[in-house]
Amino acid sequence: KEPTDINALCDEYLRLSYHGLRAKDKNFNAEFKTSLDENAGKINIIPQDIGRVLLNLFNNAFYAVNERRKNEGEKFKALISVATQRVHNSPSGNESIEIKVIDNGNGIPQNVINKIFQPFFTTKPTGEGTGLGLSLTYDIITKQHNGTINVESKEGEGTTFIITLPV
Ligand code: ADP
Ligand code: MG
Repeated sequence: KEPTDINALCDEYLRLSYHGLRAKDKNFNAEFKTSLDENAGKINIIPQDIGRVLLNLFNNAFYAVNERRKNEGEKFKALISVATQRVHNSPSGNESIEIKVIDNGNGIPQNVINKIFQPFFTTKPTGEGTGLGLSLTYDIITKQHNGTINVESKEGEGTTFIITLPV
């Protein structure tokens, strides 16, 4: 682990994801945006692994907005964003960094939302998903970094993944 500027990391990986996806998809149509807390500061993390987590989440978000576009057509404006926030937990006084990855994609049905972190769980057709992204993500956040990851989603409206990492 090394002290890492979390805003710079989020910005770097959002750009990486944006350029990578745009290069691969000739119908690319999505806005990528950051909303970074200037007081987020540095935290001790393995930057490559948190970067991999972000890429997993952006890939899933991109898939989800494209699924929604299939239903709603070209008028749909896809938006994927990453937000950071430094959080002061009272009464413990502990500090943590919250990272949210937000999309306005097709959302996750209530009957599968409790399975998404399981290895090999996927709703994608063969060849498009392995079901390993979120289980790896879960392990990186909880086991390697002592953090938490949660999800909020509404079918047809979008999904937010909320990661907290201790400072
Ligand atoms: P994969 O992407 O290979 O299917 P993941 O572990 O990354 O595997 O995700 C598991 C499942 O969780 C996906 O197949 C999808 O059903 C659901 N999911 C994950 N992220 C999102 C998202 N942002 N929007 C909608 N569904 C999602
Ligand atoms: Mg995935």
